[in-house]
Amino acid sequence: MKRALFPGSFDPITNGHYDIIKRGIKLFDEVVVAIGINSDKTYMFSLEERKKFIEDAFTNQPKVKVVTYKGLTVDFCQEINAKFILRGLRNPADFEFEKAIAHTNRKLSKIETVFLLTAAKTSYISSSIVRDVIRNHGDYTVLVPDSVKIK
Ligand code: ADP
Repeated sequence: MKRALFPGSFDPITNGHYDIIKRGIKLFDEVVVAIGINSDKTYMFSLEERKKFIEDAFTNQPKVKVVTYKGLTVDFCQEINAKFILRGLRNPADFEFEKAIAHTNRKLSKIETVFLLTAAKTSYISSSIVRDVIRNHGDYTVLVPDSVKIK
């Protein structure tokens, strides 16, 4: 089974992430969306909320699984037998950042990172911009899947 891990913070999932996952399931038998637990970071949404937003966005899609993990991404890939890491690329800054991580992951393991170029219509979206829109009471709903609901 060709299993890919799509790691990130997903605080919250955006239409950009959604597009990468939808396209990822055409390439892989299973895409495991993995929310990294980083105790040094502060988040707008709790782990449970972030997980539920993603699960609810893919309720009818058995090829998408949502999990949380701690520690090195490559170690978790080995644990769940995922031979690929899926990442999205929006711009040159993403590329430089992702290149260093992908090279490091290759040095530490045999896991290949597969990059998908963002869809033009979601290329400007980031979770941090969505959080800013939410904080300032803007219409965030045009940037995220319907499952993302603010209490
Ligand atoms: P991280 O904390 O690792 O940056 P994110 O949740 O922000 O996690 O992003 C996870 C992955 O989704 C990264 O590969 C990132 O490049 C990708 N991504 C984020 N936004 C978009 C977008 N609008 N289009 C395509 N890929 C995206």
